[in-house]
Amino acid sequence: MSAGILTRLPLLAKWSGRMIQIKTPQEIELMRGAGLVVARAIGAVRAAVRPGVTTGELDAIAEDAIRSAGAVPSFLGYHGFTGSICASINDEVVHGIPDPQRVLAEGDNISIDCGAILDGWHGDSAVTVTVGPPSAEDAALIAVTERSMWAGLARAVAGGRLTDISAAVEQAITAESHPYGIVDHYGGHGIGTEMHQDPHVLNYGRPGRGPRLVPGLALAIEPMVTVGDPATVELDDGWTVVTKDGSRAAHFEHTVAITPEGPWVLTAEDGGVAGLSPFGITPRT
Ligand code: MG
Ligand code: MG
Repeated sequence: MSAGILTRLPLLAKWSGRMIQIKTPQEIELMRGAGLVVARAIGAVRAAVRPGVTTGELDAIAEDAIRSAGAVPSFLGYHGFTGSICASINDEVVHGIPDPQRVLAEGDNISIDCGAILDGWHGDSAVTVTVGPPSAEDAALIAVTERSMWAGLARAVAGGRLTDISAAVEQAITAESHPYGIVDHYGGHGIGTEMHQDPHVLNYGRPGRGPRLVPGLALAIEPMVTVGDPATVELDDGWTVVTKDGSRAAHFEHTVAITPEGPWVLTAEDGGVAGLSPFGITPRT
């Protein structure tokens, strides 16, 4: 074990009784491999979204992309989940189950969440896209959700605190003139040798609190935003989370590592260059 690890571990090994996994630079490199598998799987699914395709077909495309890269779909079998992606349409916020009978129609929006394990390391990412040209409502919803994710990712820098990310996500959403809802109960998370690790990352809150952000910490940042009220309910299938008021939702997610050279967006093909540039942040790539 290197001296670097010995001096770093005590900083973050324990926070409020929970364990936080700090990765070595070599382990972060392995996580980049998993992240790229997820990026390409989502890219393949995204390219296949069109009217008439089923969410079951999209799931098969994702599973094939993951397995042909030598990786394993992390969602499949997770607490009994039956897909390699979550496919959540319109008022469905997250955790929609892929279904060979569920056909996409022009005017739908679909959130695709996907995870993979490569060499024991996880990547986790999500996008929302529309089926055909977006309505003005969907275009604005998707833009604010994605922008809030990047605002959070831009704060994934060493020396900050966890809730700097939460506050940046919230501020990007509340800056809009439309009163978008920020979904509670679900949020971002630590990630590494398991998909879900401590710490939980809220999508709102005051900055300057929580664990210190140090190199080797990896997080999934994932805002879920609604056009209407943010209250949600889980359907009887035990998975699908929908808005109570039936308003539409969007969900974006990237896995990011905090490195001495800046954030490294592991599930973005370009490492985060394009998404972080409006915030004046140059990622490690
Ligand atoms: Mg996810
Ligand atoms: Mg996640």
